[in-house]
Amino acid sequence: CDDVICAIGQDNSFPWIEKETGIEFDKWELPILDKQTYQSTHKKVFFGGDAALGPDNIITAVAHAHEAALSIRLLCDNQDISVRPDPHTTLDSQKMGIHQWSYDNDISNDERYIVPHAAKEKTLKDLNMEVELGFDPELALAETMRCLNCDIQTVFTDQLCIECDACVDICPTDCITFTKNGEENELRQRLMAPAEDLDQDIYVSDVLTTGRIMAKTEDLCLHCGLCAERCPTNAWDMRKYLFDTAKAVD
Ligand code: SF4
Ligand code: SF4
Repeated sequence: CDDVICAIGQDNSFPWIEKETGIEFDKWELPILDKQTYQSTHKKVFFGGDAALGPDNIITAVAHAHEAALSIRLLCDNQDISVRPDPHTTLDSQKMGIHQWSYDNDISNDERYIVPHAAKEKTLKDLNMEVELGFDPELALAETMRCLNCDIQTVFTDQLCIECDACVDICPTDCITFTKNGEENELRQRLMAPAEDLDQDIYVSDVLTTGRIMAKTEDLCLHCGLCAERCPTNAWDMRKYLFDTAKAVD
């Protein structure tokens, strides 16, 4: 995305869009759109919300945004944007190869980096001087490497699991446990790494072939993807998001 323009208003009004750009409007001054893809007559411009099809509720606006985002992704991938995924399609495994992920999953043990300040002798003499100097590129990179990749989720598909326990073996934080099911508070204490933060749900699978369940202490997960690399059946996967939209199906 190059530009995000935040705006509020009471009416559609696009006098600022130059007609030579290739974006055409109808007699109501609404952009002419494909109602499935939300693509305008300019193939790289998409509309959503009230600006797209006139006033409606916020749920509809969000749905437009989902569809437009999907179109943009397909367009960026040089795919046909009119071919839409089925409802409840999982779009995005982050796996690119056996040991390759589309995100940086190295674990950084660094403490939070302090933003450098200008020398006090200078800032006290000049009150207009900026105190925080900001990160230089090197520090900024080191700080971003501390990211825990919370937007990448560990997704477990119980039908695929053969209960080999290889993921338990490799997990650096011992957050995966295969055990018999039980009442939640008692189960929390029985996990390899007890899940003591009651505000954080534990991730529990359906009952597996041997009668055990998989339970994961979410607080400890580093989103490193080692479980998904190790798993011989892809029962573990690292996924960025689900395309999970309510639609009537035949
Ligand atoms: S992503 Fe890493 S820390 Fe999280 S469950 Fe898998 S192996 Fe363990
Ligand atoms: S490595 Fe995969 S198949 Fe083996 S126990 Fe873990 S999730 Fe199940």
